[in-house]
Amino acid sequence: MEPDSKPSFQDITLYDIDTGEPFIFTAKEQEFFSRQGFNHVPKHSPERRKLLREQRYKGKPIFNVTCMQCKRVGKVTQEPPDYKHVLCEICFNEQWEAHLEQHPEIRQLFEGSV
Ligand SMILES: [Zn+2]
Repeated sequence: MEPDSKPSFQDITLYDIDTGEPFIFTAKEQEFFSRQGFNHVPKHSPERRKLLREQRYKGKPIFNVTCMQCKRVGKVTQEPPDYKHVLCEICFNEQWEAHLEQHPEIRQLFEGSV
C-alpha cells in the first residue's frame, strides 16, 4: 500500500434493511461518514430516512421555540409553559455554569458527594 494514498470512495449500492429497496451510498456521503468517524453504513435509503424522521414526530404536537439567548429555533414535543423564556441546551448549560459560579454552595451540592 502506498503511504500517501488517500482512501478513495466510490458510489456503492446498498439495500434498505426494511424494504430491500436499493439506494446509492454516494462517495461524498462515504467521505462524510468516514470524516465523522462513523463505522457503519446507512440502513435506509434517504427517502426512507426522511419518512422515519417524520414518523417519529407524527401524532405529536410540535412547538416551534426560539432560544431567548441565541435565537436558535428548535422543535419540541411539549409545549413550553412560557414561550418567552426558552433556552436551548447550549445556552442552558452556559447559564447553569454561570449560576454555579455565583453560588458555589450549589455546586458543592452536586460535586460534594464525590
Ligand atoms: Zn441558545
